Amino acid sequence: MIYLKTDEEIELMYQANQLVGKTLGELAKHIAPGVTTLQLDKIAEEFIRDHGATPAFLGYNGFPGSLCTSINDQVVHGIPSSKAILKEGDIISVDCGTHLNGFVGDSAYTFCVGEVAPEVKALLKATKESLYQGIQSAVEGKRIGDISNAVQTYCESKGYSVVRELVGHGIGKNMHEEPEVPNYGRRGYGPLLRSGMCICIEPMINMGKRNVVFENDGWTVRTKDRMCSAHFEHCIAIRPDGPRILSSFEFIETNLGSNAI
Ligand code: MG
Ligand code: MG
Repeated sequence: MIYLKTDEEIELMYQANQLVGKTLGELAKHIAPGVTTLQLDKIAEEFIRDHGATPAFLGYNGFPGSLCTSINDQVVHGIPSSKAILKEGDIISVDCGTHLNGFVGDSAYTFCVGEVAPEVKALLKATKESLYQGIQSAVEGKRIGDISNAVQTYCESKGYSVVRELVGHGIGKNMHEEPEVPNYGRRGYGPLLRSGMCICIEPMINMGKRNVVFENDGWTVRTKDRMCSAHFEHCIAIRPDGPRILSSFEFIETNLGSNAI
């Protein structure tokens, strides 16, 4: 069942997602060598609660954090920890969710820790660009496969590979609703895009091979070949006049300045 949202509901979705953007923007000020992912998690939780919302990830299927923090070869779902200390040259995907006024926001950004190798930065740039390629295809009357294919085609043209085991998703009152939004697929296939659909598009793109491993902690997903992986996510609404991005990287990129991807 795909729930189409009313204009009022999309406005509430926008507010929840803007708060995610602001939370990621706050974290952008703190991401630096020596900082632990648990510290980032505490900053995020406090920020979210101070804004009258609750962290959507905390307790979700038993997840112990308010953020997913995934460093270098970790693809997604890394658990914040006092043992995970950021160091110069790392990349970290920070995925954040909020519950506000009955709706969920969900967005992710991959940050550089200090100076990062040019080839890793190129992976981040391409992954972020593929997200926008996907969004451009999120047009009423097209299909989910058009989004999937746009992401895949762009990333593979750059020599990167697309993770298959994890996908984007519909979103609304629940974090994960139908339909699934894979980052690979065929044009013209999959569910029809209709105005009022809210979906998260979230390319997870590997520098090496596409294969992933699920770690014994029950959550963390990493690349099998231990090469870097990047992850960017926006929540969007399908509207008659085109896709509307409900989340935001503006708060992040304002705070990162020239260090933005
Ligand atoms: Mg997310
Ligand atoms: Mg998501």
